[in-house]
This record gives sequence, C-alpha cells and structure tokens, in this order.
Amino acid sequence: LVKHFPVHRIRQRLRGRGEVVHAVDDVSLTLRSGEVTALVGESGSGKSTVARLLAGLYPLTDGTISIGGATVRATRGRLFREHVRRVQMVFQDPFGSLNPVHTIAYHLRRPLKVHGLAKNRAATRAATVELLEQVNLTPAEQYLAKYPHELSGGQLQRIAIARALAAEPKVLLADEPVSMLDVSIRLGLLNLLAGLVKSLGLAMLYITHDIASARYFATTTLVMYAGRVIEGGPSEELVQRPAHPYTQLLLASAPDPDRAGRDPELLDAGEPPSLVNPPEGCRFHPRCPHAMDICRTEAPGTTELRPGHWTRCWLYSADTEADTAQAPRPS
Ligand code: SF4
Ligand code: MG
Repeated sequence: LVKHFPVHRIRQRLRGRGEVVHAVDDVSLTLRSGEVTALVGESGSGKSTVARLLAGLYPLTDGTISIGGATVRATRGRLFREHVRRVQMVFQDPFGSLNPVHTIAYHLRRPLKVHGLAKNRAATRAATVELLEQVNLTPAEQYLAKYPHELSGGQLQRIAIARALAAEPKVLLADEPVSMLDVSIRLGLLNLLAGLVKSLGLAMLYITHDIASARYFATTTLVMYAGRVIEGGPSEELVQRPAHPYTQLLLASAPDPDRAGRDPELLDAGEPPSLVNPPEGCRFHPRCPHAMDICRTEAPGTTELRPGHWTRCWLYSADTEADTAQAPRPS
C-alpha cells in the first residue's frame, strides 16, 4: 500500500526592512511511503526552507501540505500538533542537535513522553532500546547512559535518527544528513536511512547539494534553484538525460567517477541569485548560456518531457517560438 503525501504549491515570503525574500516560490512535490525523494540544490537555493516548512518549523505563506489526511495551512491547533509528530527531521549538524547536558536515554524518552507513545517506565525503556537497535547502536544498554560528547559524529547522527523515529513519523526529512560526517562513514549512514525507509514504510525527503548521491539513493530527484523546483524525474533518467540548463551545469560540476572529463570549475562561473528581489522571468537567466528574450521577463511553466520527467524551461515549452534547434535536448 503506497501512501502519497502531496505538497501543493507552497510559498514562503518573508518581509523585513522593506525587502521581500522569496525563499520558496510555488513548490509542489509528492512524497511516497517506502521511497526516497531527493531535493538537490546549491546552498541558498531554498531547499532547507522547504524542509522547515514541511516540518512546521516556519509558517507557510501559501499552499498546503497533506500528511495522512491532515492538511496543514496554519501553524497551530490540534491538527498542527499531529502534523508535527508525523513529520520528523534530521539535521545536518549532529553535534548541535543534541543537548550536551542530557543522556542519550533522555533524548529518546522525551519524544515518547511528549507524544504519549509509551505508557510506563518499562515500556519507555523497551522503546528506547528498540530505537537504538533500529539504528544499529548495539548493545543498546551501552549507549543509554552516555552523554553526547562521548559519541562520534556518526553515532550522534544515528541517535538523531532514532529520536526522529521515536515519534513514529510517516515522513522523515533529512537535511544534508551526512555532509558533516567523515567521508568513510557516509555511505553506511545513507544505507541505514534507505533500509529504514523500506522497513518502516517512511516517506523520505533527502536534501543534498550532491546530485551523485541522490542518483544512488533516491527514486525521484527534484532540482531546486533560487526558490523554485526547476526539474524533476526518476533519478537515473534525470542524471542520464538532464534537460534544464542548470541541472546540466550541476551535473557537469559534480564529482562522479562514472563521468570522466568534467569541468569542476563550471559552477564558479556564476553565483546563485539572492532571494531578495530575485531575477524576473526564469531566475536562472543571468547564468544561462541559452537565455532568450522571453526568459528575462516571463517565468516558464512546467513541460513534461517523458512520463514523470518534467522541467521548467522555455527551451522545452510548446509555447515558445524560439528556435530550439540549439536546445540541449536530453540525449
Ligand atoms: Fe535558460 Fe531560458 Fe531555460 Fe531559463 S528558461 S534555463 S534562461 S533557456
Ligand atoms: Mg541548508
């Protein structure tokens, strides 16, 4: 039984000092239980903001998020509290996400208590042991009395995952969960997450700047640029046949042993735009080698290229009169 969790046209605008920040603009996506969806982009693209909106940590300006029947618009009330339990987040920095004065047992007990998920001391103890076993920290008794500073970064990130699981979530948001960890342990942690997605039927949003890891880890990949999702599709197809010029640039800059002869300097050719007063039209136009007049004034709509693979780029729009002979068609 596949469950779908649609996120419909969410938007976040922040106002201050006479400026409007378009952190997230019209983002729609669907998370599916038992599957990983990757959200890929450079820092400042708005991908962490999407996660925080989904987790209810930031208020939505517009749009809806539906997790298991409850549609969240407002950030208050009983429905909202239920939403917050169903959507759990694992953050980038494992050292900053645990409180140094409390034991591991305390960190795992708290969500059980807050959400009323364990009836008494014995049940709580059994639940904390099971959580540690789920993240392969065994024997669990060895970890319960420890303090965060006694554990490695990888172990702390496993605790952060166990704490997220304690709330019995339907959706797990992992924001760069391995980027601060030693390279040698990253794959092990990603494989642990992938296994939990399958065994617990979690819908996972994997946020990363590393499109190569998205390819191996996620069923679907979405690419975000300057607050908008500009391309999405099955991960393998997206990497093999990227359509949007930005996705092509991102792939050309990604270190990937499978694809030799790439120029790692490519992305340095431009900066992602500020989300304060972002460029009109297609937000990528100041950096795009294929930019046309229409790109500077009108934002492109969505074009489906193949089933499930779509992009937002005038090069692929049936409405464009432009000569698309030069278009970087997916080959
Ligand atoms: Fe480039 Fe225009 Fe496509 Fe934007 S819409 S990526 S500027 S060709
Ligand atoms: Mg971030």
